[in-house]
Amino acid sequence: MTKQMLVLELRCPQCGAALTEGARVHLDGHVRRTHQQGAISLSAVFGDYGVETDLALEEGDVVDLSCPKCEASLMLPLACKICGAAMASLDIAKGGYLEFCSRRGCKAHALGGTGNIDDMMSLMNRMFETPYD
Ligand SMILES: [Zn+2]
Ligand SMILES: [Zn+2]
Repeated sequence: MTKQMLVLELRCPQCGAALTEGARVHLDGHVRRTHQQGAISLSAVFGDYGVETDLALEEGDVVDLSCPKCEASLMLPLACKICGAAMASLDIAKGGYLEFCSRRGCKAHALGGTGNIDDMMSLMNRMFETPYD
């Protein structure tokens, strides 16, 4: 049985550009530890930790993310509840927004949150506008 994949259609909160292509979200990244800059693509599949990038990333590295179209920073003045790194945010095309941790290897790094069932339900509600009780 194949697990049903939920692909998130994400947009830049600043310019509104669609950033999901296929099952990937294309962003620009800046690695804080090495000051390296380059393209980074996250898996757009809900709860998937997959990252593809030319950047040399180690577990625990924090990557500042920005929009590849308008170069606006996607970083929030908010700390991850799990590891304390800065959170990034993208808009969901269907409405609402998604926050995720900028630290590689952190559980909150996956799009869709921490894998916590409450996070997941609230995201599903934001995406599908269905009441949850
Ligand atoms: Zn943008
Ligand atoms: Zn984190």
